[in-house]
Amino acid sequence: MVARNLKNVDLETLVSLSKRRGFVFQSSEIYGGLSSVWDYGPVGVELKRNVKDLWWKSMVRDRDDVVGIDAAILMHPDVWVASGHVSNFSDPLVECSSCHRRFREDQLESDKCPECGGELGEPRQFNLMFETHIGPVQSAENVIYLRPETAQAMFVNFQNVQTTTRKKLPFGIAQQGKSFRNEITPGNFTFRTREFEQMEMEYFCKPGEDDKWHRYWIDFSMDWYKRYGLRSEKLKLREHSADELPHYSKASADIDFEFPWGWGELETISNRTDFDLKAHMERSGKDLSYFDQESNERFVPFVVEPAMGADRSALAFLADAYDEEGEGKDLRVVLRFHPDIAPFQVAVLPLSRNDKLVPKAREVYDTLRPVFNTQYDDAQGIGRRYRRQDEIGTPLCVTVDFETVDSDDAVTIRNRDTMEQVRVPVSGLVAAVSDQIAAMRTAARE
Ligand code: ATP
Repeated sequence: MVARNLKNVDLETLVSLSKRRGFVFQSSEIYGGLSSVWDYGPVGVELKRNVKDLWWKSMVRDRDDVVGIDAAILMHPDVWVASGHVSNFSDPLVECSSCHRRFREDQLESDKCPECGGELGEPRQFNLMFETHIGPVQSAENVIYLRPETAQAMFVNFQNVQTTTRKKLPFGIAQQGKSFRNEITPGNFTFRTREFEQMEMEYFCKPGEDDKWHRYWIDFSMDWYKRYGLRSEKLKLREHSADELPHYSKASADIDFEFPWGWGELETISNRTDFDLKAHMERSGKDLSYFDQESNERFVPFVVEPAMGADRSALAFLADAYDEEGEGKDLRVVLRFHPDIAPFQVAVLPLSRNDKLVPKAREVYDTLRPVFNTQYDDAQGIGRRYRRQDEIGTPLCVTVDFETVDSDDAVTIRNRDTMEQVRVPVSGLVAAVSDQIAAMRTAARE
């Protein structure tokens, strides 16, 4: 077992590593950047895609009681009236009378401006939904919203999905996609942004079975983070008190992670009762009830919802993976990602850009690529390339040297965590890499 992450990373270090290695760039940087909006680079996109794909696999593909949808971001404006977002989806905003900066009142520690110490005005409710107009006429009748959550598409499609799949309760509908909130005080890198990606699942069940399923999905989610390597001591379950509960919820629990600046929410698992389906039945006039053949009864299902942020989870995996060894010019920064979360699983590195080595290294690369997410790198010296792979958390590096082409047709596999190097024949490389990845998977859970 490898000692992990003795170093608690600060946010500045993570932001600078992210930029240096192509995880995350500031949006529109050449124009001075757009505040609190971020772009994933070539390495970050692989990390986030792994997070999304692993969630989709465990939530949808590995189960026969959950199906997926991919709904449009733009929805009928009545959806947001029925859901309560038009009237309730707001935060208390206060403005400083001296510097005119704006803050969320519920996040302030004193009644003075945190920037200049000035007096703060009276709070007013600020709706977080982004508005736009649909069609060529910009009138009040054409106002629509960028969705602030993905969940509502599952409620309004409940009947479509149920009748086309013939699913019986309990069953869930999952979706991943962009959501938008005009947050008053975004910040902490990709933790709170105005455009972000959610992964949500609505699990429809019989009233009376909702408490059982709420517990089930809390345990499922907690286990999911641990399965992919987040350490238990960095995760905490926090049940909401009655006065914290959103208007639609009977019970909610947050899974919090200890980010570099402190504890923050990764996910909320809520018991949304029959609130949403009933609200849409009333507003649309359509029947969204369910006929249960077993009991011969018709009722409106209850809903339990695990709601997770893809960006926040990717940031948690990044922060938790960060480790340092040595000091000064011997400093080794290494991201100890779980091998399925790591942006790339293997890197193929010819010892140099020699004419003899490169074709062989490309051949080795072509052998590995169909099986693993593999990177080929022949820029700069081998030492620098090892460092680069450590900094993006690649579990294994495969080096092609002169012996490979001159004598043994074998390559060296270097393990990111044990630093062991083993020589294996090219003919057995895929099997050897698979074995090492499997061992790292097991170690990540220990
Ligand atoms: P918070 O209390 O942090 O504002 P929330 O409780 O409003 O979040 P939910 O509505 O429960 O968030 O959304 C589900 C998940 O979506 C959150 O747990 C989080 O991972 C993600 N999420 C919500 N808002 C943002 C945001 N502004 N930026 C990034 N991710 C977000």
